[in-house]
Amino acid sequence: MTGLDLTWSPDEDAFRAEAAEWLEANLAAWHAEHGGEDAIASGDTRDGFAQHLDWERRLHAGGWAAVSWPAEYGGRGASLWEWLIFEEEYYRAGGPPRVTQNGIFLLAPTVFEFGTRDQQAHILPRMAAAEDLWCQGWSEPGAGSDLAAIRCRASRVDGGWRLDGQKTWTTRGAFCTHLFGLFRTDPESERHRGLSYLLVPLDTPGVTVRGFGRLDGDEGFAEVFFDGAFLADDALPGGVVLGEAGQGWSVAMATTGSERGLTLRSPGRFLATAARLFDLYRARPEPRLRDRLVDAYMRAEAYQLYTLDTVTRLVGGAAMGADSSINKLWWSELDVELHELALDLLGAEAEVEGPWSKGWQFALSGPIYAGTNEIQRNIAAERLLGLPRR
Ligand SMILES: Cc1cc2nc3c(=O)[nH]c(=O)nc-3n(C[C@H](O)[C@H](O)[C@H](O)COP(=O)(O)OP(=O)(O)OC[C@H]3O[C@@H](n4cnc5c(N)ncnc54)[C@H](O)[C@@H]3O)c2cc1C
Repeated sequence: MTGLDLTWSPDEDAFRAEAAEWLEANLAAWHAEHGGEDAIASGDTRDGFAQHLDWERRLHAGGWAAVSWPAEYGGRGASLWEWLIFEEEYYRAGGPPRVTQNGIFLLAPTVFEFGTRDQQAHILPRMAAAEDLWCQGWSEPGAGSDLAAIRCRASRVDGGWRLDGQKTWTTRGAFCTHLFGLFRTDPESERHRGLSYLLVPLDTPGVTVRGFGRLDGDEGFAEVFFDGAFLADDALPGGVVLGEAGQGWSVAMATTGSERGLTLRSPGRFLATAARLFDLYRARPEPRLRDRLVDAYMRAEAYQLYTLDTVTRLVGGAAMGADSSINKLWWSELDVELHELALDLLGAEAEVEGPWSKGWQFALSGPIYAGTNEIQRNIAAERLLGLPRR
């Protein structure tokens, strides 16, 4: 651990109070607008997505959609510390999952790092305002853990790219307007070479988005088909290639750094779940499970301390690198642990669908999405521990 300052400044305390006050008032108003908290559907259903979009636009109007971005792009120029504070207050107040997360937390950091000024000026404000809704088009039927096996092609043609192939597991793809995807732009290339990171409006002729249901009944996934779709170079101001053509792998690795690392799953989310678990325990004490409860709570707090350490290092100029794999292992396993304990506390009642059982079903996908935990362990073994590949 680096030297870690665990005190908040008066300005940070004021920021926290302002965020908490805004969230309390606006969550109540959003719930009321949609017939009460219980009437809000999952953001992975079409109706629920529309409800959550209202929330996203409310966040944006208040300047809270992307707090750490510069004001010119729709943020409020908050520090990383303030972003963590906001996230804590967000989940403490019971804020809903962010249906804009794949844009704001995955694509945006990569646009800041690799985008041209024109791309940043066009993409970021529309993303913050939830006008353009971005989904991640990486996985294919034959390319999941082995992402370098990508077969979707983008062939260079006059004035743009011709797209062919299929993406799958595209979260909320059926409800989004744009896709950021990896395509093979050099037909002679193999594996990590010759890929490009393309930005694709989903209303491009020749692109078909087909939503499909998950085991839990929600329809939050899509398959995306490209049948000779023509993606014009000027389909987006500033162009449709993020970073250099042919360098898509290194651009994509920056996105995975955000997905596994700091931005996608902040500790506030798990601290709030751990606090709700305590409430559940108090309502139905089960001494047999007390040690597990305390252990789970301590792990949530430990994840927060680990994140504070990460932010300290990042603010000091360090890069996240392969440490993001450790981060991903931590939050995904913690989420399963917290929800499994809740189901054990609920006993037979856990069979009835409710927030804890829904949360548990989603937690089970944490060790799969953002790169499976087996793959994260491989990365940690090779790149952090220096173990041999075989
Ligand atoms: C909730 C959810 C949301 C998702 N959202 C998106 C999205 O928006 N966009 C997108 O592009 N994708 C998305 N995905 C897909 C996700 O990225 C893939 O499921 C994941 O990368 C695994 O790929 P796969 O499903 O093809 O499994 P496979 O790669 O076939 O893996 C099957 C099993 O084999 C193991 N395995 C594979 N290779 C190795 C190895 N070398 N060493 C050890 N074990 C190995 C894996 O860990 C896994 O247990 C999502 C997935 C989920 C569950």
